[in-house]
Amino acid sequence: MPRSAQQSAAGATAPKTVAQKLQEERYPPFVRVTMRRWVKWYLDGTEAFWPFSDVAIRFLIAMWFLRSGLVKLNNWDGAVFLAANEYPVGWMDPVSAATTGLAIELIGPALLIAGFMTRPAAMTMAALTIVSQAVYIPTTSNLIAGAILIWYAFHGPGVISIDRAVAGGIKQSALPLARPAIVASEFARERLAPVIMAITRVWIAVSLLNHAQLIQPSVAVQTWLPTTIFAGFPGWLAVIFAGLFLTGFGAVIVSYTLFPLILAYMIIGAHPAVTLFPFLFLGIYEAKGAGFLSLDRAILAWLDKNILFDRAYADIPERWPHIVIVGAGFGGLAAVTKLKRLPVRITLIDKRNYHLFQPLLYQIATATLNPADIATPIRSMFKGDGNVRVIKGEVNAINPAARTVTFDQDCTLFYDRLVLATGATHSYFGRDEWRPYAPGLKTIEDAVAVRGEILNAFELAEAAGDPARVERLLTFVIVGAGPTGVELAGAIAELAKVSVAREFRMIDPASARIILVQSGPRILPSFPESLSQRATRTLENLGVEIRTNSRVTEIAEAQVRIGDDTVIETETVLWAAGVAASPAARWLGANDDRSGRVLVNDLMRVLDKDGKPIDDIFAIGDTAGSNAWNGD
Ligand SMILES: Cc1cc2nc3c(=O)[nH]c(=O)nc-3n(C[C@H](O)[C@H](O)[C@H](O)COP(=O)(O)OP(=O)(O)OC[C@H]3O[C@@H](n4cnc5c(N)ncnc54)[C@H](O)[C@@H]3O)c2cc1C
Repeated sequence: MPRSAQQSAAGATAPKTVAQKLQEERYPPFVRVTMRRWVKWYLDGTEAFWPFSDVAIRFLIAMWFLRSGLVKLNNWDGAVFLAANEYPVGWMDPVSAATTGLAIELIGPALLIAGFMTRPAAMTMAALTIVSQAVYIPTTSNLIAGAILIWYAFHGPGVISIDRAVAGGIKQSALPLARPAIVASEFARERLAPVIMAITRVWIAVSLLNHAQLIQPSVAVQTWLPTTIFAGFPGWLAVIFAGLFLTGFGAVIVSYTLFPLILAYMIIGAHPAVTLFPFLFLGIYEAKGAGFLSLDRAILAWLDKNILFDRAYADIPERWPHIVIVGAGFGGLAAVTKLKRLPVRITLIDKRNYHLFQPLLYQIATATLNPADIATPIRSMFKGDGNVRVIKGEVNAINPAARTVTFDQDCTLFYDRLVLATGATHSYFGRDEWRPYAPGLKTIEDAVAVRGEILNAFELAEAAGDPARVERLLTFVIVGAGPTGVELAGAIAELAKVSVAREFRMIDPASARIILVQSGPRILPSFPESLSQRATRTLENLGVEIRTNSRVTEIAEAQVRIGDDTVIETETVLWAAGVAASPAARWLGANDDRSGRVLVNDLMRVLDKDGKPIDDIFAIGDTAGSNAWNGD
């Protein structure tokens, strides 16, 4: 079978229009759109405050422990007396018990607040609350704080924590057991913490039923139930909430309803002791949901499968429109992310099998990062999205009449909608003969080559001997002062003046000249003037020479000419000036602008030669030329 036929079979071959296909969908668009909006609101809303509420919860629990620790520290004899007489721990002598308790109460809070070794800290603090509940005065605060800490011991802290900040680096590191440890902690967060939440739910439901006197556990069991949280609640209300907790239904609504209710009963004095902990628990319940074996999860899973369209690729009905997205840069990825929740089949084609985070290319070029740090495999990004298929292939033609995309010369895909997000490449403004002397920075290969050039210049200078050659080698010219040029100039200056400053013996790397050439009157012309001025000051403090209103007129081996008369002797010229859009306009035979960008209307629909929008084809990102948004 020819490759084109194989691809055709895999693509959407039905001749029906997108509108016809959508009409065949079981649920009308209104239901789908409304449902999706609700679910999105529900999921986003619950997670939105979590980074901050997590910090607040950890802080408040830590303060509770710390206060108790400080009281013990101020009255050590009293602490030992209590450990001996009030809450003796059978297997420890009083001084050891008091010392252990004090250590946990002082060190645990610091770790919990910083989010550093949070899991062991939380587990140890939870153990202390359990011991305290078992052998000292049982309190609801102990119980709820203990439950929250046990949950933290499995879930770990939120993103504002040292643990989360270093996890990525540790996972990639060569430290023994580092990767398994991080994988285990991710497993605990994703799989085990929901189970802990389910157990906690049932425990709270039992307390509510106990409060409603529908069950009568023994006094010993009641010591372990946080029943007093619900002091004041009429029996019928307790039964309703017990049902909601048992089934795990409506976690968000339950949290928002219980919060004012408990507060109100506390204010009117129905509670034996006022405590913050129920509210902290509700903060977690609202953000993280009802967990394992809950109605909430079952409903979301059903919605996902039936209305939100989370299906395996093989199960996708033929009637779902086929959207082909070319390019997995920022534009292409954003398009897939937005579209993948619709009843569509998406094919994402890129000539590379990784997404490149271009803004950090300059850090590869200056040896601060490694290529793998800024390249993410595209396939792995969408491994959980059944309706997204990733193809590594280079698109070389489009046939709008037949609605086909051709890639790798002879493979063809049919599309219902086509999104072009193929980015841009360097442009030497028609002076392609400069390319060998002035490499640009657009790909990993470019960045590695530029890194080689920069580092090699220092190496050659160390060995050169001839002062004129040394000066040439230690002169770096960057053409173009947009973000790339500015970042590159700053990074080379830092490299020369800080990173390698003491590594050479015959040359002084700090004496390197870094010259940033800009044809316009200021650097960073697309940014506000105040930012240009700040960037100018920062670069000048780093020793970068900035030449504005200077147009490069010639680049040859070992020299750059600026204007008519200025010649700079240099062996390293880096190009950060012009960009040209991908050939998308040529593939389509559509209109383009001066930089080759496909002209689009304000819905990003490509315009044909007559300026009319082509219904099925969109262009986005660097390859699209749009006047719809003026930057305000
Ligand atoms: C060094 C550097 C620094 C930058 N710094 C910043 C910054 O600080 N801030 C900022 O806002 N912007 C910055 N930018 C610009 C920003 O990176 C781009 O605006 C952005 O990447 C454009 O996204 P895109 O999706 O349009 O194209 P790209 O991200 O370029 O993605 C295009 C994708 O299409 C693929 N592709 C191209 N042709 C084909 C084909 N024929 N077939 C299949 N696949 C193809 C490519 O492999 C690529 O994956 C920087 C750019 C560079 C180069």
